[in-house]
Amino acid sequence: MPEERRDTIYLDHAATTPLDPRVLEAMLPFLQGSFGNASSPHAAGREASGAVEEARGRVALALGADPREVVFTSGATESNNLALRGVARAQAHARRPRRVVTCVTEHHAVLDPLAALEAEGFEVVRLGVDREGHLDLGRLEEELARGVLLVSLMSANNETGGRHPIAEIGARCREHGALFHTDATQTFGKEPLDVDEASVDLLSLSAHKLYGPKGVGALYLRRKRPRVRVEPLLEGGGHEGGRRSGTLNVPGIVGLGAATRLAEAERGAEAARVGALRDRFEATLRDGVPGLKVIGDPSDRLAGHSNLAFPGIDGDDLLKAMPDVCASTAAACTSASLERSHVLRALGHDPEAVVGSVRFSLGRTTTEGEVERAARRILDGLHRVTGA
Ligand code: PMP
Repeated sequence: MPEERRDTIYLDHAATTPLDPRVLEAMLPFLQGSFGNASSPHAAGREASGAVEEARGRVALALGADPREVVFTSGATESNNLALRGVARAQAHARRPRRVVTCVTEHHAVLDPLAALEAEGFEVVRLGVDREGHLDLGRLEEELARGVLLVSLMSANNETGGRHPIAEIGARCREHGALFHTDATQTFGKEPLDVDEASVDLLSLSAHKLYGPKGVGALYLRRKRPRVRVEPLLEGGGHEGGRRSGTLNVPGIVGLGAATRLAEAERGAEAARVGALRDRFEATLRDGVPGLKVIGDPSDRLAGHSNLAFPGIDGDDLLKAMPDVCASTAAACTSASLERSHVLRALGHDPEAVVGSVRFSLGRTTTEGEVERAARRILDGLHRVTGA
């Protein structure tokens, strides 16, 4: 971590994670001496393409996929765009339903490309959720029965950590002949997901959420039963089997491969450790903050997520009162806009709970001492904000 950050307590791992030093180590040779273009047939190129293929194998292995089904991208935003626009446009002239089903709590990197498709004449059905963020699978079934091209539902929500039952949704999509895309940005490397067992046809992931570098990710695209076709977003040299043109980001891809390998090896023990720290963090705060509410389903969420509604305050004021605690009041990607969480509103929380909510997300760098210090800073911050 950079010097000036030493005293800060980083509890925003759902927004992004620090680069694991072991990942940096794996990347360094490809930022220095081994600079070849992975498409070049000479020795330098072959060295680069060998490293890219090793990383592709790692990502495929983690998904139970074939390496040929993994397309490298610039991150989950691009993967989602390629999945959604790519499938819809590839099917535009086929005799397939022009309907796509998603959920109101998806990330904007899914909702916005779908809004663009809607403007192109596709019908987009946005399913609602209950107060804990759960979908009504009966409603999904009704929509599937009406004929659907593609379903896009995230494996876990970035704001609440709440999961969707991916294998059950996949089975229903398969039964009705709909393609199934899942945005697995928050779960890849944290929770196991086998694309065959879960009947997933397309899956998006991003390296910077699993201690890898920013600006690199992947899209899993099923090759068989069914073969998923996508129209590329980028035209050019025909890289990645024509699905994503552009010189490959070799150091980034090597970083994604290394991050995947580490995450897969450590994920079980890490989830237990982080989950125990999160529970302790919440227990301390619950003792000190009457009326504190956990947003989402407290008994079924990702181990590191803690989205809390503090009564009677503005979450932004609390963050300002404790500048050394890094957390967020809305998904980092949308906090630039004035919109407060569309996810919390979809869960039916009143405006006070939405404004008073702060998302803390723990991860690999979080220690017991940090969690205790953060809870104390929060209690002090609340006193300052409320003047109590
Ligand atoms: N989907 C989800 C669920 C996310 O949490 C994020 C990152 N906030 C994205 C997509 C976008 O990922 P990237 O930053 O790699 O474009």
